[in-house]
Amino acid sequence: MPVLKRMMRVSNRSLLAFIFFFSLSSSCLYFIYVAPGIANTYLFMVQARGIMLRENVKTIGHMIRLYTNKNTTLNGTDYPEGNNSSDYLVQTTTYLPENFTYSPYLPCPEKLPYMRGFLNVNVSEVSFDEIHQLFSKDLDIEPGGHWRPKDCKARWKVAVLIPFRNRHEHLPIFFLHLIPMLQKQRLEFAFYVIEQTGTQPFNRAMLFNVGFKEAMKDSVWDCVIFHDVDHLPENDRNYYGCGEMPRHFAAKLDKYMYIMLFSAFFCSLPYKEFFGGVSGLTVEQFRKINGFPNAFWGWGGEDDDLWNRVHYAGYNVTRPEGDLGKYKSIPHHHRGEVQFLGRYKLLRYSKERQYIDGLNNLVYTPKVLVDRLYTNISVNLMPELAPIEDY
Ligand code: UDP
Ligand code: MN
Repeated sequence: MPVLKRMMRVSNRSLLAFIFFFSLSSSCLYFIYVAPGIANTYLFMVQARGIMLRENVKTIGHMIRLYTNKNTTLNGTDYPEGNNSSDYLVQTTTYLPENFTYSPYLPCPEKLPYMRGFLNVNVSEVSFDEIHQLFSKDLDIEPGGHWRPKDCKARWKVAVLIPFRNRHEHLPIFFLHLIPMLQKQRLEFAFYVIEQTGTQPFNRAMLFNVGFKEAMKDSVWDCVIFHDVDHLPENDRNYYGCGEMPRHFAAKLDKYMYIMLFSAFFCSLPYKEFFGGVSGLTVEQFRKINGFPNAFWGWGGEDDDLWNRVHYAGYNVTRPEGDLGKYKSIPHHHRGEVQFLGRYKLLRYSKERQYIDGLNNLVYTPKVLVDRLYTNISVNLMPELAPIEDY
């Protein structure tokens, strides 16, 4: 009996020790898993604060110069550097008046009277049923969310591509904001939600390549917008057409205090500008850069690679001016998504990889389903069919 008691005591102790070490090791593992994400966010915030401080110092310095210099006035002719209010004023005066008459034979103007500027963005949850009901009154919306203006000829035919997995609550909020805005901008558009199935890490960039190919099979688009599902434009004057140069629409995010950010703290080329969230290229530009890379599995780096591709192809990136590029992001957790730690190595070889990894080596088998407001393209990206180049 005492022997058994002693044994019990030992096993109790070892059980406690086991629980202790188990919880310790799982906390350690969890920390290792989330640390890069926390570090990234923290560094972004530090950088944003730094830029904000510098801007404030610059503005204060300019104000002092204005007050001490008798030849300059504050009557709007000499705005502080970096302050975009002058752009904003120019924009407002050039928008067309309410009584403007459209012609169905002429291209729609870019600055229409309905585009009034600041939008009140509400990120609270809404169901698909509610938005289906709301948009059911609009008989001009064709399956796949395809819409074209009737009172003028759309200046751009825009395919909006949305990479997607397990963010179901974001989608209706997204459509609720985007559809009215693009209609006000008199663009022809449709939405393609490219949903990654399977258990591999998320591959945002490859989903965009898939979406591009599928959208081009569906219709003749001339402008493609690569749009995160959680980014909502706060200004309807942020025109979603394309241009001579690739465009970065999401210039200022609420989560980064609306400061324009630079990316890639740990990359080979320091201080490249941030090119994530929402970007747009003409079909011609996208083909010329061979699309996005396919080799970025997991969070991070693919937007920096696109930035490199765009510049190696001889383009520059344009952005909306002033407050036009403001976005609200729907708050979310990173649910079991992994950081792509191999990105730094791949980014060092952006130039060499540009024409061997992209649209030209894309292999996939999609399942396409045309819904009322968007086309759903679900795809298992199967990494074994898309070998990651080893450098
Ligand atoms: N995304 C998704 N499911 C995921 C991860 C990403 O749908 O599990 C899509 C979604 O469109 C999202 C975009 O990829 O907006 C960028 O990912 P994420 O929002 O995680 O990036 P972050 O907010 O950290 O920039
Ligand atoms: Mn996000």
